[in-house]
Amino acid sequence: MDLTLYVWRQDGPDAKGKLEQYEAKNVSPDSSFLEMMDMVNEDLINEGIDPVELDNDCREGICGTCGCVINGIPHGPQEETTTCQLHMRKFSDGDSLTIEPWRAAAFPVVKDLVVDRSALDNIIQSGGYTSAYTGELIGEANNTLISKPIADYSMDAAACIGCGACVAACPNGSAMLFTSAKVAQLAVLPQGAIEAAERVNNMTEAMLNAGFGNCTNHYECEAACPQGISVKFIAKTNREFIKALA
Ligand code: SF4
Repeated sequence: MDLTLYVWRQDGPDAKGKLEQYEAKNVSPDSSFLEMMDMVNEDLINEGIDPVELDNDCREGICGTCGCVINGIPHGPQEETTTCQLHMRKFSDGDSLTIEPWRAAAFPVVKDLVVDRSALDNIIQSGGYTSAYTGELIGEANNTLISKPIADYSMDAAACIGCGACVAACPNGSAMLFTSAKVAQLAVLPQGAIEAAERVNNMTEAMLNAGFGNCTNHYECEAACPQGISVKFIAKTNREFIKALA
């Protein structure tokens, strides 16, 4: 396959960026999107041009590190698939691809396709954990029975890999899907329920302080999420927030 790429190049947070055109030649349909970018970068290095910076790590769809906007869609055109798990057979010979970084006020561009997602870390640090002593209150954790529906609900929320695609997809740049997954995964468990009110208050405040927008129910986040995180967790977080006010 031969493809024409329009890739966002930006030297740093304060530099002006622009799309540069590159040709990707003889790309195997079985190669991953990141392997295709590796080939393009090798060509750029051979030509004495700086390679395109893009975040990636596990390349197994579980670490949440990779991510770029491909033809206007965070993580590209394949549903519930991270950028690293996207394969070139999803595209056709002769296609043009526009490749951009996550676009959100809270995610400043570091370089090219790399953005600073530490705002998500700040939300986690504000309450995405449980620190309550639970020994005498609910007994040893392994002795506490959790029903299958509750365990499944919590695990579905815990599937969030923190990639930030939901923020990039939201017209408001909201991190509500991410935050709600982190709130909900703990709120339904006995160990997490103890600090639920404090957690939802602190994480919501951290989200707003980090410059993320608010949720106005566009559902673009759910559509872009590679883990299929449901907007039902946003509803759950809103209920937790109202409970915390009581
Ligand atoms: S909710 Fe989905 S899109 Fe958002 S950070 Fe988590 S895994 Fe990524």
